Amino acid sequence: MDLDRLASALDGLEGTLLRNEPMAKHTTFCAGGPADLLFLPASEEAAAISLRTAREEDIPCMVMGAGSNLAVPSAGIRGLVIAMADGFSRVEQRGTVITAQAGAKLTRLARRAAEASLTGLEFASGIPGSAGGGTAMNAGAYEGQLSDVFERARVLIDGRIEDITLSEMDYGYRHSMPLEKGAVVLTASFRLRPGDREAIEDTMRDMNRRRREKQPLEYPSAGSVFKRPSGNYAGALIEQAGLKGLSIGGARVSEKHAGFIINTGNASGDDIIALIELVRQKVYEHSGVLLEREVRIPGVDAL
Ligand SMILES: Cc1cc2nc3c(=O)[nH]c(=O)nc-3n(C[C@H](O)[C@H](O)[C@H](O)COP(=O)(O)OP(=O)(O)OC[C@H]3O[C@@H](n4cnc5c(N)ncnc54)[C@H](O)[C@@H]3O)c2cc1C
Repeated sequence: MDLDRLASALDGLEGTLLRNEPMAKHTTFCAGGPADLLFLPASEEAAAISLRTAREEDIPCMVMGAGSNLAVPSAGIRGLVIAMADGFSRVEQRGTVITAQAGAKLTRLARRAAEASLTGLEFASGIPGSAGGGTAMNAGAYEGQLSDVFERARVLIDGRIEDITLSEMDYGYRHSMPLEKGAVVLTASFRLRPGDREAIEDTMRDMNRRRREKQPLEYPSAGSVFKRPSGNYAGALIEQAGLKGLSIGGARVSEKHAGFIINTGNASGDDIIALIELVRQKVYEHSGVLLEREVRIPGVDAL
């Protein structure tokens, strides 16, 4: 693996290249060791070339968005991380369709939809992910999910850029084809419906008030750590197992919402990951339910 050769190839591309970059700066857990190379592309071509070059050099490579669903180990991430962020975040609206580059924040899309009196994205107004990450994760809340409004996406798959329709996304609960196959969402379009701006804004305000009441938003976290097990709630199972407040280092199971693990200030990535495993194990011992992680761990999950 020749990181220096990859770095000099990326230096010439549209975007920003950071070396040995602490992932704590790029994740909402505010924890995790350094990525060897972190590239923030500013164009579709730069994203595509960076991924292709890494593959040619046989260097491990992963894509991320806002880092709001990632727990990064303390040892960091080897190889290249391509982060779709502010430099790749154009949002356009045509009629009832909103199209966003992968780095655009979901909160911004929801706001843009409201301003255009379009309904369908209210649920996303409190999800701190990106359009690309949200599309790949099929982010959702309050009975809504992105697959409900997904129209099409431009996706980098097997070195080619393809237009992908809803049926090809193979959507499920927090599941999609890009997540499964390691494809990169470059742009995503969402088809909304005309609505009443005031009603849309009221709904968003109400959802965000409920979030503030129930979720420990005052601490760094990655939202719900586990997927909802069928017929149950991860938070309820964790609470019933008596795990609220359980801590490893600076990572703690939130007392406000047991489904959240929070960074109380100085949690390392390894503290967080160890606590996730401990909670899974203890919930299994208590209830026989094996929780499935929603949070993704570089080096463990194929990203
Ligand atoms: C306070 C808080 C509340 C939250 N509430 C919710 C909620 O209500 N509902 C919900 O669903 N989630 C919630 N989340 C989790 C998170 O915001 C979502 O999972 C979001 O979709 C992740 O997007 P991201 O851009 O941050 O992705 P990242 O965390 O950067 O990455 C997550 C996964 O997506 C992949 N990915 C990222 N970008 C791309 C891309 N362009 N192409 C292909 N794959 C990509 C990554 O490889 C990784 O596997 C919450 C998180 C926090 C911190």
